[in-house]
Amino acid sequence: MAAQDSVEHKYVYDFAEGNKDLKDLLGGKGANLAEMTNLGLPVPPGFTITTEACKAYLATGREPDGLAAQIEAHLESLEREMGRKLGDPQDPLLVSVRSGAKFSMPGMMETVLNVGLNDRSVVGLSAQAGGNDRFAWDSYRRLIQMFGKTVCEVPGEEFEHALDDAKRAKGTQNDLDLDADDLRGLVDAYKKIFAKHTGREFPQEPREQLDLAIRAVFESWNAERAVVYRRQERIPADLGTAVNVVAMVFGNLGADSGTGVAFTRDPGSGAQGIYGDYLANAQGEDVVAGIRNTVPLQELEQLDKKSYDELLDYMARLEEHYKDLCDIEFTIERGKLWMLQTRVGKRTAAAAFVIAGQLVDEGLIDLDEALHRVNGAQLAQLMFPRFQLDHEFQPVAKGIGASPGAASGKVVFTSARAVELAAEGESVILVRRETNPDDLNGMIAAKGILTSRGGKTSHAAVVARGMGKTCVSGADELDVNVPAKKFIVAGQTVNEGDVVSIDGTTGKVYLGEVPVMPSEVVQYFEGELNPEQADDALVKAVHRIMTHADEKRRLRVRTNADTGADAARARRFGAQGIGLCRTEHMFLGDRRELVERLILASTDEEREAALAALLPLQREDFIDIFREMDGLPVTVRLIDPPLHEFLPPLEQLAVNVAVAQERGEDVAKEEALLAAVRRMHEENPMLGLRGVRLGLVIPGLFAMQVRAIAEAAVEVTRSGGSACPEIMVPLVGAVQELETVRAEAEKIIAEVVGDSGVEVLIGTMIEVPRAALTAGQIAEAAQFFSFGTNDLTQMGWGFSRDDVEGAFFWRYLELGIFGISPFESIDREGVGRLVRIAAEEGRAARPGLKLGVCGEHGGDPDSVHFFHEVGLDYVSCSPFRVPVARLEAGRAAITTTGSDSR
Ligand code: PEP
Ligand code: MG
Repeated sequence: MAAQDSVEHKYVYDFAEGNKDLKDLLGGKGANLAEMTNLGLPVPPGFTITTEACKAYLATGREPDGLAAQIEAHLESLEREMGRKLGDPQDPLLVSVRSGAKFSMPGMMETVLNVGLNDRSVVGLSAQAGGNDRFAWDSYRRLIQMFGKTVCEVPGEEFEHALDDAKRAKGTQNDLDLDADDLRGLVDAYKKIFAKHTGREFPQEPREQLDLAIRAVFESWNAERAVVYRRQERIPADLGTAVNVVAMVFGNLGADSGTGVAFTRDPGSGAQGIYGDYLANAQGEDVVAGIRNTVPLQELEQLDKKSYDELLDYMARLEEHYKDLCDIEFTIERGKLWMLQTRVGKRTAAAAFVIAGQLVDEGLIDLDEALHRVNGAQLAQLMFPRFQLDHEFQPVAKGIGASPGAASGKVVFTSARAVELAAEGESVILVRRETNPDDLNGMIAAKGILTSRGGKTSHAAVVARGMGKTCVSGADELDVNVPAKKFIVAGQTVNEGDVVSIDGTTGKVYLGEVPVMPSEVVQYFEGELNPEQADDALVKAVHRIMTHADEKRRLRVRTNADTGADAARARRFGAQGIGLCRTEHMFLGDRRELVERLILASTDEEREAALAALLPLQREDFIDIFREMDGLPVTVRLIDPPLHEFLPPLEQLAVNVAVAQERGEDVAKEEALLAAVRRMHEENPMLGLRGVRLGLVIPGLFAMQVRAIAEAAVEVTRSGGSACPEIMVPLVGAVQELETVRAEAEKIIAEVVGDSGVEVLIGTMIEVPRAALTAGQIAEAAQFFSFGTNDLTQMGWGFSRDDVEGAFFWRYLELGIFGISPFESIDREGVGRLVRIAAEEGRAARPGLKLGVCGEHGGDPDSVHFFHEVGLDYVSCSPFRVPVARLEAGRAAITTTGSDSR
């Protein structure tokens, strides 16, 4: 015990003690300040209080033992280094207190500048600044304002109003016109506001200011906006923030001072060069607040060549060191450059690919690392259609880019109107203040959704993303009046039927129809752009990284396709077979009539006649697909949904029959249909007579499909092609179901295939939890498994897949019950566990059992990593997601740590 107590926990690190790899402990900002210090860059001295101290504080509500003494010791050494004491009346040291979590959470947590100023040290600060009283009092009023607001929860507007009053009294609109006396008066006013709200005077003791500011930063980890941001960005809630205490340097000491931000490459396009903004005679917060206009960084060369050259040198060194795009915040204090922050900078999807490619060319990283630095979500973004680059439309509003893509259409204000106009073939944009579950049909019908309220996790945003539909949310410049069917923006009235365009990536809203173009990346995948010849850096980079992903990946990528056209496109996108050909749609359209005959058949002969008529049609369907997929495996799934889905809706039919009877018409056929629909009606059709159950109940149905598949394969093979069919039985829960279907199928296959050389595999979907849990038995009868994670999620969670996402998932997301819909990304612990069990037990019973997944998760980046880890052979997804799955399968093969590219 005693021995343990004597080893004091280290909660505070000088910048010289840390490094960039200690982000967990020192946060991103602290770790990078330490790294820059150790590189010999001019970082103002300071120290970092660890995330562990924050976590201990948040757990107990008080500072952990030893923290106060460690802060004292590090403060003393900082004072020695600076030759000044915190808040000293003659020559004060001032510090900033800044948050800094492991992952950047811009603007979500607190910062307090100028700590150490009080009624006496303000005079000392003025002396330090060469008698600049105005500067000293301005700094003091900023401290009271920031401290009041962030540490003591004084409403920020009160300070703003007092500042406005001071400007009004002076007859100006510009802060810079306030002189020292005005600012001294403002300090008095601020102090009164502070006292009124807190019941105490503004603390004059510098160390008390420091301790309270540190505490406020700790607590800001749990501020509502930070909690919401974390949930949205899927940042774990238990990381805590570090706190950086840094000697103040001032960019607002005159024309030879200033502050700015810089990027080592363009974070928008990835182009090489110097990008950034500079603001003379200002502090960092002025840049962020956009109070005055910045100038391009290049202009600093004229203003202060020495600092500019130095900055360029540091930028080059940082990029070389981090081997990536860095963003930088700096301040110049009377001609001396200080580096205040750096980090690997955020970038657009296009820039991510381009930069990764450039860094490989420059020899800074290898292709594995380049592949690690991009991700499927970025690639998916690059595949959405977008507005033409050279359009001349000006945005009338800007909201949140909630779901990417570009959409134009006629404005509608209600779900019903959206459905109506869409049915007439119109493109519509559904405009609402905010959406709710009642709007679901309208959202489905619309090309895009535009709301004036709500953020990235609003109902509109979540549902739209789930549907892959373009959405701009929270465009608060829009005054939406649903009853009057209009909205007003930028002084213009937009009525129902007027055309608008929305960009779900940038959040911009335009009046009129902005022309749309397919993305270059899709043109490349379609084979319409030759990457060797394209002068497009993005296409070249995508090509290079995709090629590498294909070389590295172990998972094969197939597609879900049930038409020849889809199969052909998927093949161009790199699909290595079909993992799921749903046969349901083949029973619709002008074949309904035959299906009705099948369902209504009252004798074996009638039923067999209907099946015999369907057989050649099915055979043609499969021939088409086998031809497109020549030489590649094609998994054909026997019919799955309940048969009544192929009949007219009950209510509509009942009304029609009643009306016809009233008129005395002959309704015998309709009556029979109605009786069949009534007989087949199920309360829970998704859990009813579908899949293998249907095959066991309707004699000859599966047999007809099996025959059509085998005959098609033989025909394609005989005509010189190569068909590799895999017959898949849906919704199996018990091995006996599969055995029964298989016995019949094998007979038919043997009879049809003869000596043609065609080989037909028979396997099953694993999509019922019981199948996953008895996979060892089922594997005895199956040559392959394909995980149907849509149904497995539905039945694993008990969530009706057709209802819940629009109905209440927004609330579950808001509460953090899950960070993303389990229908979108595999729930590793629950549904994923079923997959793992089935894979292990299936392979134990039948070594070499072929394993794939064909639920929607097969194209979800994070899920692809999971399927790689579990050891599946392939993932199968919709054609458009094939490139995303290829990329992520490559990434999964080079990293075991998952897709942490935040
Ligand atoms: C599944 O359930 O995951 C699946 C692929 O089948 P369907 O979506 O057709 O039910
Ligand atoms: Mg299913």
